[in-house]
Amino acid sequence: MGHTKAAVQLNVLIVGAGIGGLTAAIALRRAGHHVELFESTSGPSEIGAAINICYNADVLLRRLGVNVADAGGVRMERLRLVKASGELLQDQDFLKDSQAFLKDSHRYQSEYRLTLRAALHGQLREAATSHNGHGPPAKVSYGRSVASVDAETATISFTNGSTAQGDLVIGAYGVTSIARKQIDAKIRVRNGRHSAFRFLVSEKEALADSRTAEWFAMRNTMDIWYSGDSKVVMYRCQNNELLNFVCVHPATKSTAIAGEWHRPADKSELLEIFSEFEPKVLAMLEKADPKSLRVYPLFDMETLPSFISPTGRLALLGDAAHPFLPHLAQGGAMAIEDGVSLGVMMSRLEGRDEIPERLKLYNQARYERATLIQEYTRIVGGDSVKSDENSAAELSLNEYMQYPYPHDEQRASEAILHKCLESKQTAVY
Ligand SMILES: Cc1cc2nc3c(=O)[nH]c(=O)nc-3n(C[C@H](O)[C@H](O)[C@H](O)COP(=O)(O)OP(=O)(O)OC[C@H]3O[C@@H](n4cnc5c(N)ncnc54)[C@H](O)[C@@H]3O)c2cc1C
Repeated sequence: MGHTKAAVQLNVLIVGAGIGGLTAAIALRRAGHHVELFESTSGPSEIGAAINICYNADVLLRRLGVNVADAGGVRMERLRLVKASGELLQDQDFLKDSQAFLKDSHRYQSEYRLTLRAALHGQLREAATSHNGHGPPAKVSYGRSVASVDAETATISFTNGSTAQGDLVIGAYGVTSIARKQIDAKIRVRNGRHSAFRFLVSEKEALADSRTAEWFAMRNTMDIWYSGDSKVVMYRCQNNELLNFVCVHPATKSTAIAGEWHRPADKSELLEIFSEFEPKVLAMLEKADPKSLRVYPLFDMETLPSFISPTGRLALLGDAAHPFLPHLAQGGAMAIEDGVSLGVMMSRLEGRDEIPERLKLYNQARYERATLIQEYTRIVGGDSVKSDENSAAELSLNEYMQYPYPHDEQRASEAILHKCLESKQTAVY
């Protein structure tokens, strides 16, 4: 992917070494560009929670040389939807049914995998910075907190007063808002209606407890328990040895504090909020280690008018452009698609003056799709609050999951770039 190198080598500055920033770095180095990432944390800092790598993300990562299965990513094969009371609503052969969504796109070339975030980050970082990869290795500078971005001159200013200038700046800093005001000064991130507890439990612990042993004996699964306004999502990761829990609940019920990601959460709050859930769920919640239990507010934002600055030297990607609620597990996938699209659009570049036009193509490729899936995500999450347990369960899969999976962003972006380059040739002759 991205082997079609550009004739000109750009200096690309990426703010934020999260999932999106690192993916963009891999795609851009493969297009032949020099990439430096500036990350505010003092070192790699992803903590214990896990992430779904859906088909549309997996197909792209594999082409970039990142196979999450190599780092313990578990293939999702069964999906069980359950009422909070314990009544089984659906036991789905997810492997078979979801492959059918893919039809002729990247069927059999991608899998739906569940993996630890820290493991994914490690793989992405290695692919971005390794001396063995295609193109110049990217450099990650930690402890470099960016205070502001000048989109016109592609200059970033750090909180310590120093600056760096490149040909192109990519804002991949997540939900925080440093560069977004270059595109829309008024737009604000807001707390969503929900917060989420996250923690991991070992499979060993689940199997050692007679209350949970039978249910959790099944591997390669995702289970979702629904009540009117809350849900508990469990999925496997780390070669099935860990069970990742995400417990979504109305934000008013817990004390999640924005920005305090590393503060342990109150376990008694978790047990109180989910007290109506069936005994085996409660038995698992009791196993949450208070030292690593976290509660996060879930963010949302109005839609930006564009993912690029009007002066054309700044592009936003991932949560910086479109913060995602977790209900469709597509936020990381959209950041990955954005990164790949930027790599495609910056390939076959003849001169620096083409950057603004290429960024417009990036925006064309990404804007409608990312904002539509963002809206679908809201609907799924919102309906799980408003409607009864049965319809929430049906909506989450059947109505909305078929749209994201079959897409192949590399092919889609290549088609847009190809059309643009072809129209120029036609104009010349
Ligand atoms: C509970 C929950 C569950 C989720 N589950 C899934 C899932 O299963 N599948 C999925 O696809 N998505 C999921 N998501 C969404 C996904 O985590 C995000 O959409 C994804 O991490 C966005 O990636 P990003 O690179 O844009 O931002 P981030 O991963 O947030 O990375 C941003 C980086 O920028 C750095 N940074 C911030 N400010 C600065 C600064 N001023 N200077 C320098 N660096 C800075 C940060 O330290 C961070 O490393 C979930 C989200 C939540 C909250």
